[in-house]
Amino acid sequence: CGIVGCILKNKEQVAPILLDCISKLEYRGYDSIGIATFDENINIKKDKGKIKEVDSKLDLGDMDGSYGIAHVRWATHGDPSKINSHPQTDEDNAIAVVHNGIIENYSSIKEQLENEGHVFKSDTDTEVIPHLVQKFMDEGLNLEGAVRKTTEIIHGAYAMAVISKDEPNKIVATRKDSPLIVGLGEDGYFVASDSPAILKYANNIIYPERGEFVILEENGVTIKDENGNVIDKDVETIDWTP
Ligand code: GLU
Repeated sequence: CGIVGCILKNKEQVAPILLDCISKLEYRGYDSIGIATFDENINIKKDKGKIKEVDSKLDLGDMDGSYGIAHVRWATHGDPSKINSHPQTDEDNAIAVVHNGIIENYSSIKEQLENEGHVFKSDTDTEVIPHLVQKFMDEGLNLEGAVRKTTEIIHGAYAMAVISKDEPNKIVATRKDSPLIVGLGEDGYFVASDSPAILKYANNIIYPERGEFVILEENGVTIKDENGNVIDKDVETIDWTP
């Protein structure tokens, strides 16, 4: 199980890079693979199965857009299936989320959201995240604020990366008790569960602490603490390419 997010500076196609990076996390074990990119709309390709099988069926590298998120899933809630694969979205496909970990209180959140009229498609714990983010954006928060508010509600272990159709050219990521690193590359900026995923593209690495937020944009990376204050982080250069 693992996640990757990437935003390219030069507007080139990100899907082949996301596929390459997420393939390097195969060693963590997985049952499903999925990618979301943004190009006017959120495009998603995902299914259960090995990366090779799913790629030969769906051509995962053939997606437009210069930023996106990717996932290999180790199912904890909901069988391995296309609908339970990540990225998970809200019902309007306005938000896409890749998540690594477990949301322990998802069933009470899901029940409450269903009472408010939200319609769920999957059996995953993860699906509450895009619904909460969309709800808070509908209430007026920006993407970063909505992800922050979502993390005040969910309990459990997570590393996640989120994109929104209504706030293009941005990836917001955060972690608590699941690993997440940030990569600063010549051609783009990355988040990933582990460094082997991205060292080919970025070897200047930042290690966010639990509760910190990462905002990837074409022109740079911002890290914020739990209270939303921008923080300076050490950058470690890894002189090794897998
Ligand atoms: N709990 C989530 C699910 O079952 C994420 C699993 C993972 O970390 O891959 O969909």
